[in-house]
Order: sequence, then C-alpha cells, then structure tokens
Amino acid sequence: MKFLGLDLIIKKGMSNSNNSIVSSHEPKDESIRLDLLTWTEVEEYLSHCKGIILPIGSTEQHGPTGAIGTDALTAQSVALEVGRRTGVLVAPAQPYGMAEHHLAFPGTMSLKPSTLFNVIHDLLISLAIHGFERVFIINGHGGNIATIKSSFAQSYKSAATMQLPVAKHLRFKLSNWFMAPEVFSEARSLYGEREGQHATPSEIALTLYLHPSLQTKQCELPEPPSVGPIYNSQDFRQRYPDGRMGSDPSLAKAIHGKMFLDKAASSLTKDLTNFLQES
Ligand SMILES: [Zn+2]
Repeated sequence: MKFLGLDLIIKKGMSNSNNSIVSSHEPKDESIRLDLLTWTEVEEYLSHCKGIILPIGSTEQHGPTGAIGTDALTAQSVALEVGRRTGVLVAPAQPYGMAEHHLAFPGTMSLKPSTLFNVIHDLLISLAIHGFERVFIINGHGGNIATIKSSFAQSYKSAATMQLPVAKHLRFKLSNWFMAPEVFSEARSLYGEREGQHATPSEIALTLYLHPSLQTKQCELPEPPSVGPIYNSQDFRQRYPDGRMGSDPSLAKAIHGKMFLDKAASSLTKDLTNFLQES
C-alpha cells in the first residue's frame, strides 16, 4: 500500500521508546519527528509514504488550575503516539490557535481567524510542494475547527492554481482528539455533566499524565457556571469568571490521562490508516 505508514515500521524494524504506552514494534521518536530528520531523510520517507501528521493546539487560559498550553500539549502527545503506532511522520506542533474569546485572561496568545487561516494554508502548501499528498491534522482546540476547514478549501484551490504535481491527489483531514467517540464516551462515564466544555477534566487529566508537576496546581473549585454562549472576550470573562465552562477539572487524574491518550491514539490511528488508503 503506497501510503500506509505500517509499511515503514516493518521495513525499518524500529524498537520501543521509553515513554510510549503500546507495542514493542513501534518506531523511536527520532524516526517519526520531522524536526529531528534531515531533508535527505524526508526525501527518502516520501518515496515510501506521502502522509504526515500536523498537530495544532492553542495557547490559552484553562481555568485556575489548568496549564495555558493544554491544547497544544495534548494534541502533540496524541500526534506522537499515533506516529509511533503507524510510522507516519509528525510535524512540529503549531502551538497558537484562534483563542480570541479567551483574551481577557492573562497568558492567552491568540491568532485572529484570518491569521490562522493563512498559517494553516501556508503550512499545507509547503508540504504539498514537496510531495506530501495526505495531511492529517490532529487538533486540540474547538475554536480552531471552522478556520482550519476554511483553510483546507483555500489550499486545494491554491495547489490547483499553482499547478502543483500533487494537486489532484491532495487530501486534508481534520481530527479532533477530544471528539473521538471512545474519548467522548469515556469522559462522559467518568465525569458526567462535569466534563463541561472548557478546561475539561479529560484534557486536564492528559496534561497531568504528561507533566506530573501540574498536579501541584490542582485543588477543589467552586461550582462552575453552566455552559452557555460565547461572544467577545470581556463577555466571556463575565459569564465564566474563572475561565471554566461547566467543567470540574478537580476530578482529573493522571491515570485517566493515560487512558485518554491510549483511546485517542487508537481511534485516530484507525482514522489515519483509512485516510492514507482512501483513493
Ligand atoms: Zn482546551
């Protein structure tokens, strides 16, 4: 199968990595991380596989106990785990997203929708120029979804206008790890309504697994305001004074995070495998 990353694992006989949670056949991080390869290695990779994973997050408030980098940290960890399981290359994570509505909280760094649109477009076209035909975006932030999808449409158009050799075969897919059915149902069964919609215990649990030092920030929190609409940043802070939307991140445990990572990676590995084989 031309696109299938599993091919790569078998060919290269890669060994286990220390912080992985599955399988002894998986590749080491240095063979799947684009930022650790040379251009000659990327050229060689493209002769076997035309797929690549691009993680994207956001740098924004996650309530009084959650790390600002939650969405980028989680997307990157899921992307690397999918890369380890498939042998498909993982590009460096894009840490900034569309977080305009969180700007009333310090530490939030947002791209305007139009900026994010252009960033995604330019990254996709860069990959297409080199012959990548399948770009699988693993996203950690709901606020990025609409813009990423618009950017896909523009990128197809640009690839055709630029007459890139891959234009006809180019495919982009967006996968939101927190919306994977297995992750969603596990979060509901562990936390019920207290999963909420922002600074959720599921995403905080994953950061506690990835960075145990974050445990020291966790504490009991007052009842959160229930989930409601999102308008501008000042309005957001008035409606949701500590940044949470209906969530109770004090329920999060690192052991849950390990399970969420496994479930997200399993689900997205299936999606990616199907995507790479699609005509
Ligand atoms: Zn988040």
